[in-house]
This record gives sequence, C-alpha cells and structure tokens, in this order.
Amino acid sequence: MFKVNDNFTKLPSSYLFSEVARRVRAYTEAHPEAEVIRMGIGDVTRPLCPAVIDALHRAVDDEARGETFHGYGPEQGYGFLISKIVEYDYRRHGINVAEDEVFVSDGAKSDTGNIGDILSRANRIAVTDPVYPVYVDTNVMAGRAGELQPDGRWSNIEYLPCTAENGFVPLFPTGEPDVIYLCYPNNPTGTTLTRNELKGWVDYCRKHGSLLLFDAAYEAFIREDDVPHSIYEIEGAREVSIEFRSYSKTAGFTGIRLGYTVVPKELKGRDAEGNLVALNPLWRRRQTTKFNGASYLTQRGAEALYSEEGQRQVRETIDYYLANAAVMRKGLSEAGYECVGGVNSPYVWVKTPKGMTSWESFDRLLEDYHIVGTPGSGFGPSGEGYFRLTAFNTLENTVKAMSRLKK
Ligand code: PLP
Repeated sequence: MFKVNDNFTKLPSSYLFSEVARRVRAYTEAHPEAEVIRMGIGDVTRPLCPAVIDALHRAVDDEARGETFHGYGPEQGYGFLISKIVEYDYRRHGINVAEDEVFVSDGAKSDTGNIGDILSRANRIAVTDPVYPVYVDTNVMAGRAGELQPDGRWSNIEYLPCTAENGFVPLFPTGEPDVIYLCYPNNPTGTTLTRNELKGWVDYCRKHGSLLLFDAAYEAFIREDDVPHSIYEIEGAREVSIEFRSYSKTAGFTGIRLGYTVVPKELKGRDAEGNLVALNPLWRRRQTTKFNGASYLTQRGAEALYSEEGQRQVRETIDYYLANAAVMRKGLSEAGYECVGGVNSPYVWVKTPKGMTSWESFDRLLEDYHIVGTPGSGFGPSGEGYFRLTAFNTLENTVKAMSRLKK
C-alpha cells in the first residue's frame, strides 16, 4: 500500500486557535448576554482602502474585455508591481534590490513555508521562542526538526528564548545552526530589534555561513527611527538573507492574499559536493514549477498602494491600529499588567498576573472581563506565562476592553 509522509504524523494537531474557539464558543453559549471582545486572532478588521478598491474594480473591467483580459501571468509577478516594489519599498530607502530579485506570491505564509524546498534536509534550524508556528511546523513536515521532546521542543531545532530576562532580544545560537528565522517586528511579542542588534545577526550569519530568513510581515507598523524596515538596510545582508514581505497586515490583504520575497543574487549556499550555488535561480525554478502567479486583480490592487493616495490611506489605517495599541499599553499598565510590544507592532505581549499559566489567564480574561486573548504557550515553550492581545479592533472596543481590565 502507498505510504504517507511520516513527518506529518509527528506533528501534534494544531490546537491553539481551535481550542481558543472552542472555549469562546462554550462560554458564549453558556452566557449569551456577555459582550465578548475578541483580541485574539491576528487578522485585520478595517476594510481595504479606497485606492485599492478602485484599482480592483478597474482590474475586473480589464478582465471583461478581450483586449485587456489577462490569463496566466508571470509566475514571479507582473512588472508593473515589481517596479513599484523596487522603487518604493527599497530604492527610496537607499536599498539596492533588482527587479529579478523580487518574487510576488500569495503571501508570506506560503513563502516562509515553501522556502525549505530549496534547502537541504540536513540543515540545522534555529528559531526565536516564542515564534510564528509556521517556521517550526514546516520544518517538521520537511523532516528537519527531529523528534518532539517532552518539553515541547523539537530535538533538531535550536530555540532562542525571548523573555523578560533578556529584554526579548534573542542571544546568538550556540549550536551552529545553518538556517535562522527572525521576524521583526515580532509576532507574537510585538518587540523589535535595533539596527545594531540586527547588524549583530547579519555579522553572525556571515561569520558562520548561516542563512538568515527575515520575515518583515509587520514592517509597515514601524514608527521608531532605530528599527530597520528591511534586513537589507544592514551592510552585508544581501549575501546572507532572504526577506519576506506581506500586504496582509500592511494593507488589509489577509483575505485577498499577496506578498513577496526578495532573494538577492549574491546569496549562495553549498551543494553536496561543496560547490557554491546561488539561491535566486533555485527559488525562481521552485516558483515557476509549483506556483502559477498571484492573480492579476490582486496585483493591480497592490500597485495602487504605491500611489500618493494609496500610501496616505494605508498609513491612516495602520495609525488607527497603532492608536489602539497605545490605548492597550496604557490601559494594561494602569491595570497593573507588565507588557511589551505595541509601539512598532499591532501586538501587545502581556505577562500573566500572579504566576498564572497562559491558559489559566486566558480563562480568567474570558470569564471575568469577556476579553479573548491568545495564550502565549501556543507560540512555544518560552511563551508560557504570557498572553497576546492584538490591536486589530475598533477603538471603541479597545477602550472598553481596557476599562474592564482597570475595574
Ligand atoms: N509572517 C508572520 C510573522 C505572520 O504573523 C503572518 C500572519 O499572521 C504571516 C507571515 C502570514 O502572512 P500572509 O498573510 O502574507 O501569508
């Protein structure tokens, strides 16, 4: 009989958000009068901005006429979008990225998950802890993670704790990993690394021959000067890093789906014989074989984000979320909670009170305050003792949630 990929059977079931949903459902069924405020799942709540909506309508009209109809597009993305990306996201910030180094896709989840296709199974991996679970789970699926240990860690993955003790700044690995995932601004902690700290990681990777997979999905939330928007702001990063970007949180594209990945031509790894091999053509080959391009409509929508009004409208939306995050930080600290994040990020990472576990505090938040958070332990062992709240809500609900906590 045919065999399945055993690596998938090693994965524990994805329990975090389904368990959150189960507990919320049970509570609201038992207490239909409770007005529950959901600050758990990291999905945007504000609609697409008018510049994008207009562009989408125009693109639909294009598809209605033979002369302007678009079928399959280039797998790596349309030139009209890639040229905007290169100009607005990089060149205007003094960063050199070429058009053939940009690969448009249906989002950063796919790309951070799929990138492992072009990397040897023998690579050792390091992740920050807590972490966006996709990095770990996709390495389990690829057979790179080893075995799940009783402490919740995988035997072949090095976990770099980010806790209050180290100010949520990961220490350098000790196990000589080949591939390191960093996500800044971070999900779930909402914290950032300074230019100097990121330089330390680029230097580490250059010295040790490691690949840095840099997830910049929350780049648009950065407001402080000393926080790089791109890993390529750091000298030497082009030789060691791949950058992932997403329009999901930047522009509310979580539903319509679009992102891109930058693979610089200088970036090289070694094959089994020890020869240097460039990653850019490998990723191109992977994408052209397994991906048929993001839709014309979505790419026209994203192109509109780079217009003057598109940029202003998107900034207003992000400012709205950041204002919620500021309300949360203030409200939480007035209510006696310790928290980080929420300055360059829609996420606030909160220490559970009185030594409660993440799930105990989830239940207390739901039952006593009718607020839904996400238990930090779901993001990795070092997330225990924390919960995550998100600013993706209305200002009214955010203010209401904080005033409940203060009572
Ligand atoms: N990377 C991080 C760190 C995320 O938190 C998310 C979504 O929550 C993604 C990537 C996924 O982005 P996309 O919607 O572009 O697939």
